[in-house]
Amino acid sequence: MNPPASDRQVSGTPVRTCVGCHRRAPQGDLLRVVCEESRLMPDPERRRPGRGAYVHLTQECVSAAIARKAFGRALRTGGGLDPSDLERALEQLTEPNVGSVGMTTR
Ligand SMILES: [Zn+2]
Repeated sequence: MNPPASDRQVSGTPVRTCVGCHRRAPQGDLLRVVCEESRLMPDPERRRPGRGAYVHLTQECVSAAIARKAFGRALRTGGGLDPSDLERALEQLTEPNVGSVGMTTR
């Protein structure tokens, strides 16, 4: 009746760290990315086997992660990963007519 306070946030909601901005977010807010034959593959359903990296599906976080080779590090594959599939997923999301996906002003 008195669960110990741990660093786990909400029980039942796994928290992952975005490899782009290094902020922690509920797993559902992040896109899982796996490596297949040296390509970065988006895995929105989280069904692909193997090690996964998590990133916010935003231009900012994805390009930061690519620029820093954070995927290679998180997936333990080293460098030389082809991000084109991931970039395509991002393009689909940032179509011009999706006006509401903007910056959240603070
Ligand atoms: Zn992020």
